Amino acid sequence: MRQTGNHQLVKKINKTLVLNMIKENGPLSRATVAHKLGLNRATVSSLVSELIDEKLVYESGIGESNGGRRPVMLLFNNLAGYTIAVDVGVNYILGVLTNLGGKIIQEKNIPIKDTSYQIVVSQIKNIIRFLIKEMPDSPYGLLGIGIGVPGVVDTEGKILIAPNLGWRNVTFKKELEKEFNTEVIIENEANAGAYGEKKWGIGHKASDLIYLSIGIGIGTGLIIKNELYRGINGYAGELGHMIIDINGHKCRCGNYGCWELYASENTLLKEARDLSYFKNKHAEPTLELLMALAEQGNEEVIALFSEIGKYLGIGITNIIKCFNPKQIIIGNRLALAKKWIQKPLSDVLSSYTLKFYKNDLNIEFASLSPYSASLGLSSFVIESFLKNNSVMPNPS
Ligand SMILES: [Zn+2]
Repeated sequence: MRQTGNHQLVKKINKTLVLNMIKENGPLSRATVAHKLGLNRATVSSLVSELIDEKLVYESGIGESNGGRRPVMLLFNNLAGYTIAVDVGVNYILGVLTNLGGKIIQEKNIPIKDTSYQIVVSQIKNIIRFLIKEMPDSPYGLLGIGIGVPGVVDTEGKILIAPNLGWRNVTFKKELEKEFNTEVIIENEANAGAYGEKKWGIGHKASDLIYLSIGIGIGTGLIIKNELYRGINGYAGELGHMIIDINGHKCRCGNYGCWELYASENTLLKEARDLSYFKNKHAEPTLELLMALAEQGNEEVIALFSEIGKYLGIGITNIIKCFNPKQIIIGNRLALAKKWIQKPLSDVLSSYTLKFYKNDLNIEFASLSPYSASLGLSSFVIESFLKNNSVMPNPS
C-alpha cells in the first residue's frame, strides 16, 4: 500500500469537498464547513488556508454567533479569473465574458450571413480579442475559452458535421489554443445549453432534463441523473434529426423529413416568405418582425406560429416517450416566441401523450435565454480549470 499516495489523494479529495461546499453554499464559517462535511476542524482550517493562499476562497464579514466569538465567513472568490464563451448560432455569434460565478461582465453579439468556415473562425477570434481587452485584472486571468457549435462534436473537440453551417470534419481547437494561449473547449451548443440551465437556470433542481435548442436548426442536450449524457463517442442528442416524415423534405444532414425541417426558426422564416405581408412588401422576415406582427394581430402570422408550435409538440411527445424526463426546457431563439407557440404545443401534448408520462413532467422555457449555451460553456471552462489545478476532481 502506498501510504503517501493515499494521504495525498485523501487531502486532494477533502480540499475539493471544502472548496465545493464553499462555492455552492457560501458564505459559511470554518466550523459549519467541518460540521457539514464531517471533517475535523483542524483539517478544514488547514485546507481553507491553502485555498485562501491560492486566492480561490476569501474571508468576509462576520457570521451569526451561537453565543461565543462570532465566526469569520468564507466565500468562493468569483473574481479569481474569467472565462470567455462563444455560442456560434447559424445566424449569429454571441460571445460573453464571465467571472467564476457565471456573471456576464461583457458581451458581443453579431449577426452572420456567411457561414463559411474561415469567415466564422475569424469572427470568433475577433470576438475573443474584444472580450480579452475588456477583462479586468485577476489572479488567474483568462481560464479558458468555451465554444458551442450547432453540430456533432467528438470528445476531442472535432466538429464532425454541422449541417446548418455546412461544415464537416473541422476543428479550430489547437489553432485557438495556440493563438490565445489557454485551454479551448468545443461542445455541441445544445449540450452547453442543457448544462447552463442545469447549473444556473431553471433546470437547477431537475435530475433528468432535456434541453431543446430551437434556433435555425434544433439541437437537444440530455441531462440524465444530473450528468450530461453524451453517448459513447459524444454524438448523443441529435434529436433535431429524428425522422418524423420519411416522405418529407430533404435535410442538410442527408436524410428526409427530419424534425427540424418542421419546427425550427429556419422553417418559420421560410414559410413566412409566402405570407401575403412579406409577398406584398417584398420584405425579408425575421423572428422579431414576426413577433411584432403577431402582437398587432396578424392572423396569418399567428397561424404560422401555431403550426410551428404544433410540430414542436409532435417532436416533444416522441422525446417524452423515449426519456420520461422531469423537465423539458425550450431554449434558444424560438423561446422568444413563447407567447405564440406555447398553447398549440400544449394542445398537441394533451392529445398525443399518455397521461402517466405527463404526471411529473414540467415543460418550461429557458430562464437564461439567450445565454443558456454561453453560460454552460463557461461552466465547462470553470470546472476544467478547477480540475486541472488539482482542486476539483471530475464530477463523474
Ligand atoms: Zn436532418
